[in-house]
Amino acid sequence: MATSRPDRLPGHRGERFAVVDPATGEAFDDVPDQRPDELDAVVGRAHRAWLDWRADPVARTFALHAAADAVQAAGDALARLLTREQGKPLAESFAEIDRTAARLRYFAELTPVPQSIADGRPVHSEIRWRPLGPVAAIVPWNFPLQLAAAKFAPALAAGNTMVLKPSPFTPLATRLLGSVLAAALPENVLTVITGREPLGARLASHPGVRHVTFTGSVATGRAVAEGAAASLARVTLELGGNDAAILLEDVEVERIADRLFWAAFRNCGQVCMAVKRVYAPARLCAEVAEALAQRARTVVVGPGLDPDSRLGPVNNAPQLARVERCTAQALADGARAVAGGHRLDRPGYFFAPTILADAPPTSAVVTEEQFGPVLPVLAYRSVDEAVEAANGTGFGLGGSVWGTDLDRAEAVADRLECGTAWINHHAELSLAQPFAGAKDSGVGVAGGPWGLYGNLRPFVVHRPRKDRG
Ligand code: NAD
Repeated sequence: MATSRPDRLPGHRGERFAVVDPATGEAFDDVPDQRPDELDAVVGRAHRAWLDWRADPVARTFALHAAADAVQAAGDALARLLTREQGKPLAESFAEIDRTAARLRYFAELTPVPQSIADGRPVHSEIRWRPLGPVAAIVPWNFPLQLAAAKFAPALAAGNTMVLKPSPFTPLATRLLGSVLAAALPENVLTVITGREPLGARLASHPGVRHVTFTGSVATGRAVAEGAAASLARVTLELGGNDAAILLEDVEVERIADRLFWAAFRNCGQVCMAVKRVYAPARLCAEVAEALAQRARTVVVGPGLDPDSRLGPVNNAPQLARVERCTAQALADGARAVAGGHRLDRPGYFFAPTILADAPPTSAVVTEEQFGPVLPVLAYRSVDEAVEAANGTGFGLGGSVWGTDLDRAEAVADRLECGTAWINHHAELSLAQPFAGAKDSGVGVAGGPWGLYGNLRPFVVHRPRKDRG
């Protein structure tokens, strides 16, 4: 059944591609397959809209609050469409929409602060902040709306305009969001485009774009940075992770098991900052694996629109194949599935929540980002060994340490090479904090005031002091 949404795309010639419901594996709608040769017109309109949008910060604040109101008013339709194409339980889609609105409100209230430079010279020097121009945003399929908002809220608040390209796996809710926001924002301030590659590659390298902000895998991030180099556009990359959770000797396993389980399995494990590896003291390893496995065996897995479902399907067929491949390889190499370990025998892209014990440290499920409902629990003999293993991949997004002695846990967390570390938690983020991956997990800083300044350039004015003429 097709969902009706506005389809007016100036200059588009009418080709479309199908969108699949991951709970059934069947196509249920389609969207315009825009071609790269449409980008000149789209970016040109974004540039012209920028000339007015950049001029009035007060109007921007009002418009962004109105945009947040519009998102919340459309919450029901947005949430249902998001669940249908992404697969996540409906309650999580509503939470994603709330965070989308919250981000708009947060950045609506942020303004850049001019700064004076006092360095003893006889001039008055002031840093003012200027927007960059049209920004290109490219986002993945795991949190289509929330990640888009993490890009457009700071970019628009800073006075830029944006061309936003969602993943071809999840274009529908973003298109609807685009039309909802169009009612609150001036024309062409935010343009949603949909299409398959090379649309993203050509957007990233378009000469009219002044900042490319990308969230996705490390490999695509590299390609985006190469593309943006052609026009020397600024690049912000929020890339993959392979976060480790280190459990210390004094951890109370039953007390933390729920939190740890959901830190790994929320959104079916398709979270850049999910716990993707657990390191437990050898003495506790079996107890930890069993506590997590109990939850994995009993959690209700089903279509996101079913109110009983706590875990939905994997979002798409290639991703499911990747999860299956990593798991099968670990099992072939000697890992044991304490829970799950296989695809579910039902239509759609469902994989049984899986806890693996004895996975070889070199297996892909440990060293790579498998990005699905699979969690290896690995034994360590010393904390130094655990920290070394946690830091031993190219990723550096987040990490966590779990134990009763908080000072000791914090001392271990301080040794993690990543952007954010938690004690007895994982992936809890504040809108006001900087979000930046270490190593291959990212370039640039998003979140909080850093996210606003990441969309501005300093403009410095020097003038003689009055007494020096
Ligand atoms: P992906 O890199 O395959 O795709 C991301 C986006 O890039 C999609 O819109 C895709 O269509 C587009 N794209 C593909 N090829 C492109 C190219 N050559 N040039 C420009 N754009 C191109 O990632 P995915 O599979 O959609 O998402 C999963 C990845 O995203 C995981 O690695 C996950 O960790 C990461 N992620 C990171 C964060 C973060 O904040 N660090 C958040 C969420 C997801």
